[in-house]
Amino acid sequence: MLNRDDVFNELGIGPVWTLREQRDVPAAAQDASAYTWETLADAVANCTACKLHASRTQGVLGVGDQQADWLIVGEAPGEEEDAQGEPFVGQAGKLLDAMLISIGLTRGENVYITNVLKSRPPGNRNPEPDEVSACRPYLLAQIELIQPKIILALGRFAAQSLLDTSESIGHLRGRVHSFQRVPLIVTYHPAYLLRKLSDKARAWEDLCLARQTLASLTPDP
Ligand code: URA
Repeated sequence: MLNRDDVFNELGIGPVWTLREQRDVPAAAQDASAYTWETLADAVANCTACKLHASRTQGVLGVGDQQADWLIVGEAPGEEEDAQGEPFVGQAGKLLDAMLISIGLTRGENVYITNVLKSRPPGNRNPEPDEVSACRPYLLAQIELIQPKIILALGRFAAQSLLDTSESIGHLRGRVHSFQRVPLIVTYHPAYLLRKLSDKARAWEDLCLARQTLASLTPDP
């Protein structure tokens, strides 16, 4: 059975990615291991690190199994998420749940769902770089607490911000990347898939790649 480093070596990823991640991690991220779930929830609820705090209803930290193997990362809360305090509760969330079910997963069981941004950008505009930087320590803290075995990045924005690249989603799909030494797979955002049904088959391939990657890291029972 391959371990995670074997998979990285086989896929030719590792030192280069690690160097880039280390270079880009902001100083605040060094505190990632200092958080408990309680202090993290409190920090997000009271965060004023970027301008979004002024317009949001509430911070949306994430939802699910705090010891999940799967970490799903979207872009930012939308209107319904901002109102309810939970990620992916709208139409895109329903499709995300269906995508998870298709690979034998259920929201809340071995899956944790969050976003790059914990606050809603007004009018659902694109997140801005300073907002992403301000929120990054929270995602790093979540990874530290959850210790996921695989990360699924939903959509161009999540993929590009996590991987620090401007490559298109078409180029990023179909490969195993790494974030904080955790294998990361890129797929389409469910909101995009609602508009472009024909790409659902590609999303299915991505989910299968994620499932296979996880299986290659997890010893048979
Ligand atoms: N889109 C996202 O990226 N995240 C959500 O939580 C909802 C919609």
